[in-house]
Amino acid sequence: MVIVLKNNATKQQVSELIGRLEKNNVRANLVEGVHSNIIGLIGDTVHIDIEAILANECVETVRRVQEPYKNANRKFHPDNTVLDICGRLTGGDRTQVIAGPCSVESEKQLIETAQACKQAGATMLRGGAFKPRTSPYSFQGLREEGIKILLKAKKETGLPVVTEIMSLAHLDMFSDVDVIQVGARNMQNFELLKALGRCDKPILLKRGLSSTLEELLMSAEYIMSEGNSKVILCERGIRTFEPMTRNTLDISAVALLKQKSHLPVVVDPSHATGLVKLVEPMSLAAVAAGCDALEIEVHCDPKNALSDGSQQLTPQAFAECMVKIKALAQFMGKPVDSVE
Ligand code: PEP
Ligand code: MN
Repeated sequence: MVIVLKNNATKQQVSELIGRLEKNNVRANLVEGVHSNIIGLIGDTVHIDIEAILANECVETVRRVQEPYKNANRKFHPDNTVLDICGRLTGGDRTQVIAGPCSVESEKQLIETAQACKQAGATMLRGGAFKPRTSPYSFQGLREEGIKILLKAKKETGLPVVTEIMSLAHLDMFSDVDVIQVGARNMQNFELLKALGRCDKPILLKRGLSSTLEELLMSAEYIMSEGNSKVILCERGIRTFEPMTRNTLDISAVALLKQKSHLPVVVDPSHATGLVKLVEPMSLAAVAAGCDALEIEVHCDPKNALSDGSQQLTPQAFAECMVKIKALAQFMGKPVDSVE
């Protein structure tokens, strides 16, 4: 961390500042330049609050040299984190495809969709039991019943299940779920993240609607700093000024997250675009950018879906999409995982 001092900083102010800084177990080196003086901090600065430094009258600006995320940072963990999700190795040399409906609506709907997804080559099953909807009058999910149906579908198909948690109060219901998803709207629900950091399950963490990549990585840090290092980062599109798509898929985020972090990266082309016709091209773009997994919404009857009908693929469209995903993933050297 580098602190640039104001030209009119007094010796007294600077020495007081250095005294305060050194209480944080770092060394503060004062460098006197021709035009301005700076203090270089050497040591672990993650606990230092930039705002508190800026509150000193003698300080002009503060710049971080190191990223504030340590556990998620590839600099400190050069090897990829590979998670074993019921035998599906995620983050290594295989691509995983998580598919299933936006919401679990009934046993018949989920099992029919899950079987079709598996048939087409999906390696995990998604389905929302608790649904974060913009309107309180929209379908809110089957809640606990939805989780029971997901576990039945797992029994029928052998596919591990991924489902979203919205409240800490529901954590006990997730004990048999394979991957707990934190939705975009909860990316900065820090108490939820900390609690998930104390459990031993993989957490699929979605990027917030308007969050920077650093904010996403800091949210991963919340989970990891509590002891759970099984975090999967998810790019699901961000809010921009473009109204033709539901969100704007940030493809560069995929390659950048892979460089900055050792954690697996998944891309959700369904919520990123909101358009059935864009799911295939964006899935392929994500595979080309180096993602470790895709999360795709598939519904056996999208026209009658209780949520996100316009972005869910039919099983037929998903199967066609999978043919190209498999071919490209193979070409990229990270073939889609094969399930018995
Ligand atoms: C979802 O995956 O069901 C979902 C609600 O996605 P997001 O949190 O990305 O909007
Ligand atoms: Mn959805």
